[in-house]
Amino acid sequence: MEYRFATRAIHAGQEPDPTTGAIMTPIFQTSTYVQDAPDQHKGYVYARGDNPTRRALEGCLAALENAAHCVATASGLAAGTIVLTDLGAGARVVAGNDLYGGSYRLFERVFKQLGLEFSYVDTTALDQVEAALENGADLLWVETPTNPLLRITDLRAVCELARAREVPVLVDNTFASPYLQQPLDFGADIVLHSMTKYIGGHSDLIGGALLTNDDDRAARYANLANWTGPVPAPMDCFLVLRGLKTLPVRMDRHCDNAEALVAWLGGHPQVERVFYPGLSGHPGHEVARRQMARFGGMVSLELKGGVEQGRRFCSAT
Ligand code: PLP
Repeated sequence: MEYRFATRAIHAGQEPDPTTGAIMTPIFQTSTYVQDAPDQHKGYVYARGDNPTRRALEGCLAALENAAHCVATASGLAAGTIVLTDLGAGARVVAGNDLYGGSYRLFERVFKQLGLEFSYVDTTALDQVEAALENGADLLWVETPTNPLLRITDLRAVCELARAREVPVLVDNTFASPYLQQPLDFGADIVLHSMTKYIGGHSDLIGGALLTNDDDRAARYANLANWTGPVPAPMDCFLVLRGLKTLPVRMDRHCDNAEALVAWLGGHPQVERVFYPGLSGHPGHEVARRQMARFGGMVSLELKGGVEQGRRFCSAT
């Protein structure tokens, strides 16, 4: 039987603990696991490589993204680091030109020095994506909706363009969360999350994840997580699992709140512009309607009065 999203968010990947019957996956706070004899163990050797609390979280997230595999990481940027490390020196990455500043910094300040090349295009403009891919690429990195301008990229269209040129597509799905959008279903090869945001949901941890349907890719990412070390702690995995149980109710409330706020801000005399994909005038509105369940909880805006007014606004909130 195929369970629906809210049921999967509560139960997927989690079985009662076989040793005690504990219905919730315990926090396996251990570094290493006893072996009866060399190489005779119960599937766990050393917790950098694997941990039952992490494995439960990975099973749950994979079920929510319709993915065969999940590799949980210590942060969203750790997930990106694994992807870029796997590509290696000489790789050419085409990325969106509006994306999380920390991803841009990771590209420009770290991986560029290590010999990867980055170019940036407006991924909402298919002709720009096509032209960039024509020049040769080893990865297309897309964020949608983007942080901060909430631009929407047509996932099905860019994945088709990339597939025709055998370029894998990574989608940073942090702003949508799997509740609103499942990029693998549109043809993406990799989904990246900062679990720090909606997935964790309580501002009490840093975490990330990579999801894919490709067995080889998943094995490479799991090995890199183990070999380079940016793995999430069992306590954090437990907290994410707990947070995930309310993802659907939280996301619906986030969307309700955003819609109410956007309606109010839109009529406000001191507001120049509101960016929200749910607005019918937003250039990505129709695409967002097709590929997202709702329009999300993030809103950005431009105030009248420039930077000074922006400072006052931020200080007052
Ligand atoms: N991707 C997006 C869209 C983000 O907003 C963030 C963090 O703000 C990240 C990735 C990085 O995630 P983390 O802060 O968990 O390293």
